[in-house]
Formats: sequence, structure tokens, C-alpha cells
Amino acid sequence: MATPATNRSPEASALSPDIAKKLLGWFTRHARDLPWRHARTPYRVWVAEVMLQQTRAEVAAPFYQRFLDRFSTVEALAAASLEEVLKTWEGLGYYARARHLHAAARLVLTRHGGRLPPTFEELLELPGIGEYTAGAVASIAFRQPVIALDGNARRVIARLFTVDGDPRRAATRRRLETLTATVLPPEEPGRFNEALMELGATVCLPRLPRCGDCPVSGLCRAHREGREEQLPERSPRRPIPHRQVAAAVTVREDQRVLVARRMPDDFLGGLWEFPGGGVEMGESPEDGLVREMREELGIEVEAGERLVSLRHAYTHFRITLHVFRCRLRSGEPRCLECADFRWASAEELADLPMSATDRQIARLIQAHATSEEGE
Ligand code: SF4
Repeated sequence: MATPATNRSPEASALSPDIAKKLLGWFTRHARDLPWRHARTPYRVWVAEVMLQQTRAEVAAPFYQRFLDRFSTVEALAAASLEEVLKTWEGLGYYARARHLHAAARLVLTRHGGRLPPTFEELLELPGIGEYTAGAVASIAFRQPVIALDGNARRVIARLFTVDGDPRRAATRRRLETLTATVLPPEEPGRFNEALMELGATVCLPRLPRCGDCPVSGLCRAHREGREEQLPERSPRRPIPHRQVAAAVTVREDQRVLVARRMPDDFLGGLWEFPGGGVEMGESPEDGLVREMREELGIEVEAGERLVSLRHAYTHFRITLHVFRCRLRSGEPRCLECADFRWASAEELADLPMSATDRQIARLIQAHATSEEGE
């Protein structure tokens, strides 16, 4: 995605000064007012770029503010527990980003004396920092002459230079990187990278690009050839699998409900959940849940009333989550396939970091508890 700006493309060299000048001028006038564009420090740039890896700027902005209010420095982030970090991240999704950010903050403290390293190569060694993020942080926070190509910037470059081929393919990516490295002005690499991404996010849109408002339309080959909407090429996507999952709401006599913490390296690792798991082929959701509770927590439950079925889409699969009220028949919970468990009150559930679907279940339980109190 991002490489040091060493390779140069002869075809882009001639256009390079014009593209940079027009794009930077446009960025000065039209850049959106986003929270990470104020009071920039390497730490603030880093947090923003991690959030922007899989989230649009408008969605990330309030989360960014909340995260920075809670963890204003790399020291504060490193000193926090993973649970606090996940709770602050809750709702933003892709929780591996939060786990890696936390682990990287601790490394920055122990390995780099609390200062984020300035080079692309050193940044790349930190957890959760891939080529895009290393390029973005090195260029924006430390003015290193390296590129940072996110999906938006790739689309702009593919159109400007009519690059055929799916950008997910290595050869196409390399070509886009070489072209970008050629037009990157070494004196303003960070602003240029940001401008390119901003143009892709606000003007050079995937469908119906606003070429009439584009500062580089006079230099854009795709626009000249009327191919804007055909580029970048896309291979057909594989169908997304749909999984059936079951979860248990097991309530004790004192009205506390059983929740478990996922293993750190699992999907949604470190988050709390209503225990359960995937339903296997030929199993009913109820049978799958009884088996999962035995495997995960070593207890026998009886699956009763179905409380709700929720649908949710992740990047690579979708789920339908069937939620059952369960009765503990025998055994005491112990962690066989989870990191921790607890019997939580309805109020305590609010403080535990949870995924979107588990949070929906927790709200149902809290609403039920509140309505019972009022009766
Ligand atoms: Fe994108 Fe149109 Fe600008 Fe070309 S002219 S970069 S296609 S918005």
C-alpha cells in the first residue's frame, strides 16, 4: 500500500508538479474540518490513522474525540487496561485495532522511550501498523517522503493515469504505488497524501465522481476518455457466507446473568459476550447452544424461550444470532474456551465492552429489568 518514494514512473513525472500544485491548493481551500487535523502530535495522528483504517471519517470523528479525551497521551493509553480501551472503542468495530493500539502503546513506552518512531520501517514493526498506516503517520506526523494509499487514494490514481486491473492484485497495487511515489512532492508529503485521500472521499467518488468540481480534471486521463466510472476495475466478489449462531441468557436467582470474555486472540477477542457459539450443520440452534455451553463453560443448560433473533454483517461473513433464555441444569461455570466469566447485574452489563449484537442483547435485558422494577 505505501512504500518509500524511491521508484519513479516516467509517464507521471511530467505531470507531477501540476498535479501536486492543484491538489494542494484545493486541499487548502476544501479540506474538511476533522478533529485530527487540529493540535497535531504523532500520537494523535497515529490514533486517527488506526481508526481510519476501516471507518469513514465522519463516523470515526466522535469516537476519536472520546478516545483522546480518555487517553490523551501514549503513556495514558499504555497504563490503561485492555478492558478500558475496548470499552472506549465500543461501537467502532474491528476491535483488533484497539487491541493492537494498546499493545503498540506499551511497546512505544518500553522500546522507544514513549516517543513514536519516525520512520516508515520502524513504524511498520509496531502491532496493528501496516503499510498504509506507517506511510500515513511517517508522512503526516514526521514529514517523511513516503506515500499512503488508502482505497480512496488508489481510486484517484487509477483514474488519473487510467490504470487497468483490480487494485487488490499485487501487480496493479505496485503500479499505483509507483505512480503515486512519482507525483508525491517531497517537501509536503503528508499534506499531499491527505489531499489525495480527501479528493477520493469527497469528489472522486466510486460512483458518479464529481469531475466538474475536481481540481485535477484537466490532467485526468479517465475523465478525458470518459472512463471514470469504469476505473478502478473490480473482480466479482465471492459470496459472503451466512452463519447461524446461538447465545444464552442464563439468569441466576439473584437476577445476575452469565457472561463470558472471549479469548484474546479470537474474533472480537477481549470483548464480553452472552456465551454460545456457531450452530453446526444438522443441529437446531437450541442443541447447538447446549453443546457450546458444555464446551465453553462446562455447564449443562436447558434452552427455553427464544428471546430474539438478530442479524449482523461482518466484513467476511454474516450471522443470524438466535438468543435463548436458558436455565442452568447442572455444573458450575469454569473457563474451558473463554478468558473469563462472571454473573453480572443488569447495571454491570453496561460497563463491560461488548460487540454490537451482544450490546443489543444487554439492552434488552436492561429494558426488561427496568420494566420489572416499575411494576
Ligand atoms: Fe476523479 Fe473525475 Fe477528478 Fe478524474 S476528473 S480524478 S475521475 S473526480
